[in-house]
Amino acid sequence: MSQAFDCARCPGYCCSYPVIVVTKRDLTRIAKHLGIDEPTAQERYCRADHGYKRIMKRKKDEHFGRICQFFDTEARNCTIYQARPATCRNYPGDRCGYWDFLVFEREGQKDENYISTTWHDED
Ligand code: SF4
Ligand code: SF4
Repeated sequence: MSQAFDCARCPGYCCSYPVIVVTKRDLTRIAKHLGIDEPTAQERYCRADHGYKRIMKRKKDEHFGRICQFFDTEARNCTIYQARPATCRNYPGDRCGYWDFLVFEREGQKDENYISTTWHDED
């Protein structure tokens, strides 16, 4: 069965989530990938918030307001894909609600590159 979503054709909505948790193991992997030490990686790329010790810092994005700082906002993909956190690896499971909505919107707009910014994940 083919996958029910296609991240390569998506503008990366999930990378705009405010809380992307970075575990200690994630931090170790990211620091190694970038060739820097863990305290430096933590200082540069993480902050404590929403009750978590480490979440990804974000930056401005023209479509979603803010997005993970490791997201390439031109190419619309992850710049640390091989070393991305576990939460990014495990998301979204079998289906992606944003992708379903995006396909619907693109069909309606008759534009396969249309970027939908009106869909919001259920809390
Ligand atoms: S929002 Fe869905 S389709 Fe888009 S990149 Fe994330 S998981 Fe992939
Ligand atoms: S680490 Fe990569 S996959 Fe995870 S939120 Fe950031 S840009 Fe997206």
